[in-house]
Amino acid sequence: MPRPAPRTMHRRQLLRVLGRQAAALALANLFGSARSAARPVALPADSPYPFTLGVASGMPRPTSVVLWTRLAPRPHERGGGLPDAPIELRWELAADERFAAPLRSGSFVAQPDRAHSVHVEVEGLASATSYFYRFSAGDALSPIGRTRTAPAEDAPVARLRFALASCQHYEQGWYAGQREIAARDLDFVLFVGDYIYESSNPRYRLRPHEGPVPTTLDGYRARHATYKLDADLRAAHAAHPWLLTWDDHEVENDYAGVHSRSELDPATFLRRRAAAYQAYFEHLPVAPAMAPQGPAMRIHDRYTWGRLAELWTLDARQYRDVQACGDGASAGGRVVAPCAELDDPRRTVFGPEQERWLGAGLAASRAQWKLLAQGSQLSPGVAETPFGRRIHSDGWDGYPIARERLLRSLAESGQRDLLCLGGDVHRHVAANVRLLPNDRKSPIVASEFVCTSLTSRGLSEAAMDVLRTSNPDMVHARSDERGYALIELSATAASCDFRATPFPALAGARLHSQARFAVEAGVAGVQRD
Ligand code: FE
Ligand code: CA
Repeated sequence: MPRPAPRTMHRRQLLRVLGRQAAALALANLFGSARSAARPVALPADSPYPFTLGVASGMPRPTSVVLWTRLAPRPHERGGGLPDAPIELRWELAADERFAAPLRSGSFVAQPDRAHSVHVEVEGLASATSYFYRFSAGDALSPIGRTRTAPAEDAPVARLRFALASCQHYEQGWYAGQREIAARDLDFVLFVGDYIYESSNPRYRLRPHEGPVPTTLDGYRARHATYKLDADLRAAHAAHPWLLTWDDHEVENDYAGVHSRSELDPATFLRRRAAAYQAYFEHLPVAPAMAPQGPAMRIHDRYTWGRLAELWTLDARQYRDVQACGDGASAGGRVVAPCAELDDPRRTVFGPEQERWLGAGLAASRAQWKLLAQGSQLSPGVAETPFGRRIHSDGWDGYPIARERLLRSLAESGQRDLLCLGGDVHRHVAANVRLLPNDRKSPIVASEFVCTSLTSRGLSEAAMDVLRTSNPDMVHARSDERGYALIELSATAASCDFRATPFPALAGARLHSQARFAVEAGVAGVQRD
């Protein structure tokens, strides 16, 4: 509520103040700003426990980290079971789990138009240091999270260890992989997409989503809440900072830029994309400055881990052209025979701006390992059939010229120790990335590890047999097990342990090591470990 103007205020002055307020409000509406004119209130005394969705941290930098939670006593209700007002809460960060002497603390006003989500970027921290954090609202204390800052950019670092994960369809399995991730000693979790699924497959429905396919902000909020209500997922967030990029299912299967598979009118689809991006922002530990502006949200970013590694999280969805060899308007991955459109040099996956940004960053990088994380498999996954070659038009095989541009920029950067990381295809893959795919005479410019899905079902063995014989660049490819990849970097090697279970429907499933691969420093290509 605006304060009443003092009686002595001149009419012109009053109009000026009101004008400023109106302009600020218009701006706030335009950018969906978290600043609301309403005065913050405390959590209602009779509120049920508000930290049902847990806590999380993310985007670790040498001196900062982002802390996240969301106040939602009844997370599947519209408004989360809270009044339509800003609510004040507190956060604390400490070196010890008992918070005997908090190092930093502050208050935050959670806004109803952001689903009472909390994104606190704590700055001025020590590098390569573990911290504990928690939130409080009224009498309620949140669970305790643990996080860790990155080493200083010029610091020598002996080891980096992280989990690479993707594709956690809630209906199709239990999060045994997240449970194991939560218990591990890791620097961070790198999640490369399909954090939620908008759609269902009635064949695999171990535990149903809360409702139908979301298309509105309330719908996407409820879907994110369903995922966060899983205790294993919350544990993995509380245990480690996360680095994130997204793939398609955070919005809609196989969407491509402004193109949708269900909605032919881009304007209508962009409204849906805006809702999905906002709900994504509200539920993940990303920087406050990343809040979407309408249907646009910049998620691609760059991280450093001392002199040992530099990592780019890339956005392969928001800026991409529609899949080739279709009708040119509606999105959708299809298995197609190659068509002339594939050779169009204008077609892009990252968009020209992100491509330039990545190219410049790669050329300038002074870190030893260069990690490119994006949603899918970069190395080829074509099918050679008796009727000729078939490609999946949503994968990188459907954007061959864009891939060649990326690979040439890798080759021309003069950099070695390039590691590509991906997800999406629901199979563990270790691959050699050649300038010309599947051409043994073409040089290997990078090595690739793709993680299988945490729960989402993979291709049949028959289809995998065709893929394995058609793609000599894939040294390892198995879609029969669910899990994640454990990756460790040192000055001498990068190693990958493909953790997996054949039993995603078993609540107590334990993961085993499906295969181990290594990349020797200075030598591009994957080797069985
Ligand atoms: Fe997926
Ligand atoms: Ca996907």
